[in-house]
Amino acid sequence: MTTLFERNESERRLLLMDRSRPGRLGTTLPRLDVPESDLPDGSMLRDDLELPEVSEGEIVRYFSQISQLNFSIDHNFYPLGSCTMKYNPKLNDEIASLPGFSDIHPLQPEGTAQGAIKLLWELQEYLNEITGMAGCSLAPMAGADGELAGMLMARAYHLERGDDGRKNVLIPDSAHGTNPASAAMAGFEVVSLPSDSNGNTDLDALRDSVDDNLAGLMITLPSTLGLFDTNILDVTRIVRDAGGIVYGDGANLNAIVGRVKFGDLGFDVIHSNLHKTFTQPHGGGGPGAGPVIAGPRLVDYLPTPIAERGERDGGGDERFSLKRPPKTIGRMGAFHGNFGALARAWAYIRTLGREGIPQISEDAVINANYVLSQLRGFYDLPYDRSCMHEVVFSASSLRREHGARALDVAKRLIDYGIHPPTMYFPLIVDEALMIEPTETESKETLDFFIEVMKTIAKEAAEDPDLLHDAPHNTPNTRLDEARAARRPDLRWRRGSE
Ligand SMILES: *Cc1c(COP(=O)(O)O)cnc(C)c1O
Repeated sequence: MTTLFERNESERRLLLMDRSRPGRLGTTLPRLDVPESDLPDGSMLRDDLELPEVSEGEIVRYFSQISQLNFSIDHNFYPLGSCTMKYNPKLNDEIASLPGFSDIHPLQPEGTAQGAIKLLWELQEYLNEITGMAGCSLAPMAGADGELAGMLMARAYHLERGDDGRKNVLIPDSAHGTNPASAAMAGFEVVSLPSDSNGNTDLDALRDSVDDNLAGLMITLPSTLGLFDTNILDVTRIVRDAGGIVYGDGANLNAIVGRVKFGDLGFDVIHSNLHKTFTQPHGGGGPGAGPVIAGPRLVDYLPTPIAERGERDGGGDERFSLKRPPKTIGRMGAFHGNFGALARAWAYIRTLGREGIPQISEDAVINANYVLSQLRGFYDLPYDRSCMHEVVFSASSLRREHGARALDVAKRLIDYGIHPPTMYFPLIVDEALMIEPTETESKETLDFFIEVMKTIAKEAAEDPDLLHDAPHNTPNTRLDEARAARRPDLRWRRGSE
């Protein structure tokens, strides 16, 4: 006789189709409330449509069980560097689901959606202030989309001035892969810029790379090494003096929000990932938003639309409308961005307020430096200096001495119920393990993680195969990742496993 636990476990492995029994029904269709009409003719209909036939109880169990196979920030610690997997307050979801926000249509008359447009305008104002920039478009749907918008704006700016020889965009070698991709998609040539031995931009290399062909620079701050580039004022000045546009990848503002403004540092245009710094369930969990925010030189080129506050109406109420910036690069999508994500970010900023926002960066930086200080000596630190919101370790000694790679450490963490950190990025760090604890984790959680990381370093020395074969206690163990990428099996077929 199998126990209930074993039964649940084997049930969990059943695919929906395997649970199907002819004649079972999980839904009741509502009563017909429109005139009945005939079906299209037979040539447009299928006879054998293989749909699962299951009861309502079965389907609820099925989805509940598979939902538990998914790791999420609501389950446990998720230190995925560069992704800012912080706790997402549930209040944000409640606000985004208010009928006045969730039951509206982008094509309904503006007069009937004033509250929603006002929310967009306020969010633009908050982002302008937080980043020290002049104007903001909420249209881009993700960080990479914001980058593309910013690069298209830089291009429009140069072309409008008749400066059509400016082809080169400088990008540091530590950059996120989306940066060179966005610059190339906007028609630029990408020129890689080396980092110096401290992880800052190499100023001599920068001076050698600027000439009349310079369109601009895309730089991430803090860098993807988790470091604040202490040369940044020189960097932005050199690029601007040479006639270039300075683009800031502000995907992660978690280390500087409320403390440092891009506008004060000489940036012309940036994007910010609302789904990272300003809380949204993201990755597998939902759509994001990557507003593009511009300084005086580029503000007229922002993607359309942007929300504007107009004159008060006869009754004394403020009026809000969606407008087209004068030299706009056009649209990034059908309408004005992912409204639900924008509403969540608005709710988060309003909840924290002026006092709460600087606390994000203070706590995020303290947490990352705590992890850095406790794991120093157990893992290599390629740039051993105070970090910002994330810390990049390397498993190169573990690999050299015991044959355990960053991948093996990451997989073993799963056995302890922790999501792996980002691995093998940035590309300039050998066997990189990029850890971002975020500000929402308690000291107890960080201490548990630190103990686990020390234990894994010890296991690597004593029994490296324990790491090579990890994870051991998950429904699927070590996957063949190359095969999964080259021959993905994404569809149920009768007889397939
Ligand atoms: C996440 C990230 C991006 C890309 O953002 P998406 O929303 O995934 O498109 C770009 N740059 C950096 C530094 C990032 O961390």
